[in-house]
This record gives sequence, C-alpha cells and structure tokens, in this order.
Amino acid sequence: MIKYELRCRGCEHQFEGWFADSATYDVQAGSGDIQCPMCSGADVGKAIMAPNVSVRRDHAQPSSAQIAAEVRRVFMEIRRKVEDNCDYVGTDFADEARKIHSGKADDRGIYGETTEDEAEELRDEGIDIVAIPWLPRSDA
Ligand SMILES: [Zn+2]
Repeated sequence: MIKYELRCRGCEHQFEGWFADSATYDVQAGSGDIQCPMCSGADVGKAIMAPNVSVRRDHAQPSSAQIAAEVRRVFMEIRRKVEDNCDYVGTDFADEARKIHSGKADDRGIYGETTEDEAEELRDEGIDIVAIPWLPRSDA
C-alpha cells in the first residue's frame, strides 16, 4: 500500500488516500475515480508535500568546540552589522545616546563603550540599548 496526500482542486480540501501502488493511483486519478470527501468533486491530484525538516537522530551532537565556533561566527556577524550601520562614538556612548534620545543629535544607530553603571542609567532613562559581546577581530 502507498499513501498519498491528495488535494481537491474544487474546494482545496486536502486528504489522504491509500492505493495498492503508484500505478493504481495513476489509473484511478486518470479515470476520475478519486473523489473528494468534502465536495465529491473528481478533480483531485497529489498535494504538494510541505518541505520536511527532520532532525537526524543518528547525527552526533555538535562538540563544544563546534558550538563555540558557531557562537563566534554569529557574534562576528553582529559586530559587522553594527559597524556597517552605526556610528562609533567610543566612550562618549552614554552622552551621545542621551543626545539622540532627547533630540539634540541626529537619530541614528551608535555603538561604543559604557560602564555597567552607565548602561543601567540609560535603561532607567528609557533609552534603548543592547549590550553585545564584542569579539576581537584579530583572531577571527
Ligand atoms: Zn472538494
């Protein structure tokens, strides 16, 4: 027996059909013998199967070194995005962030350094900042 996911072109209903084999399906489909259970229409064809993503259970777990490499890759990607899209303001970050927040400086993305305290203050003032791990480029 073979199972096909079928789809009625009349009412879009999708259902399963069992056939002795694929040739039997072809014959039945060709002669309009397959009926939609919803609308009894005979214009039924194989549904396009959704892409099937499955985790390979036999696949070895990634090693901690592989995970570290992947994490590093993601952080470097973030760094590149920030550098491409934001102005570097160095240790003036907190001041500049406040100016932008209060409209005294151009509204733009900036990056730079703050202390933990400054970051905390900015958050308290309702300024949207995010701390990201900044990996050195040298060993990338
Ligand atoms: Zn139908």
